Amino acid sequence: MKQESNIKESINTKESIYGLSVESLKEVLTGFEEPNYRAPQIYDWLWKKRVRQFSDMLNIPKNLREKLEHKFQLAALDINTQQESVDGTSKVRFKTTDSYFIEGVLIPTEHRRTACVSSQVGCSLTCSFCATGKLGRKRNLTAYEILEQVNVLNSLSLEKNNQPLSNIVFMGMGEPLLNYNQVLKSIHFITDPLYLGMSPKRITLSTAGISKQIIELGKDKVRFNLALSLHAANDKKRSEIMPINQSNNLESLKEALNFFYKQTENDISFEYILFKDFNDQEQDAKELIKLYRQIPIGLVNLIEYNNIGDRKFIKPDEKTTERFIDILQKARVNVRVRKSRGLDIDAACGQLANKN
Ligand code: SF4
Repeated sequence: MKQESNIKESINTKESIYGLSVESLKEVLTGFEEPNYRAPQIYDWLWKKRVRQFSDMLNIPKNLREKLEHKFQLAALDINTQQESVDGTSKVRFKTTDSYFIEGVLIPTEHRRTACVSSQVGCSLTCSFCATGKLGRKRNLTAYEILEQVNVLNSLSLEKNNQPLSNIVFMGMGEPLLNYNQVLKSIHFITDPLYLGMSPKRITLSTAGISKQIIELGKDKVRFNLALSLHAANDKKRSEIMPINQSNNLESLKEALNFFYKQTENDISFEYILFKDFNDQEQDAKELIKLYRQIPIGLVNLIEYNNIGDRKFIKPDEKTTERFIDILQKARVNVRVRKSRGLDIDAACGQLANKN
């Protein structure tokens, strides 16, 4: 059942204060003829206490708060709507300052509170099973817009579960590796103890597979985990549902992922959505096993398909799914079935498309 509330909606065109380093903030304060020691205090309100209004910065004099408010925006995004699923999943729709909508999801389970965040407005990659791909790409999100999703979902987690986020996955709208710099900047803020201080091991970036950028991640020696949205382990089938495979085939992805692992030793997983009579047969499982053995993959996440309204793809029956899992397990593949969450509010994997 859907529960929906309009929280607030407004358009803000000022520069985000989150874009300022402490040094730049000091320069702004000098321009305001205010003392520099206010900079770390303001930073503390922004990054530790995460206030959403300048008026909440209690130890900052009122006239300085007003000057800051006049020049900067504090929230990079407005919360447009919030929906609650019967299974405890929350989906938040955000409105950007230039009036686009993006979505972030909070998924609480017994031991985890995971935020699934978006990295782009829409997506250019047109994977045929994905609702976001049907929107087209409008623009990349800034690091602060990504952080804002994390902050809001973190507050929601505290409010609903009395605990902060435990994990963050870049599996919302967009291809994170096509917004490389801003995504890495946001992860810097999320993991740096000066800011949110989350362990990079609790962050997973999911990609449709851009080989060049995976190699860049390796060269940059990032410390977070990587998930490849595989969905088919032969090029013909994969290109059919994921056009990006035509320019980034499995051979190039294999090389890139091996390089990434050699450089970072971070966890790599495969995401594999089972589609009836397309990639759920014995031969498909065998191809998946072969690829699994050629890359240091820690886990294969089998994902339940969520119907997005076209009849091209259907979820296989339970017997077929079990047989597929059985073949993988007999070949000692570390496999886990990921049940879809938030289906009733279109918050499940591949369903984010700004629907109410
Ligand atoms: S699955 Fe990911 S990469 Fe593919 S269209 Fe959807 S959002 Fe883009």
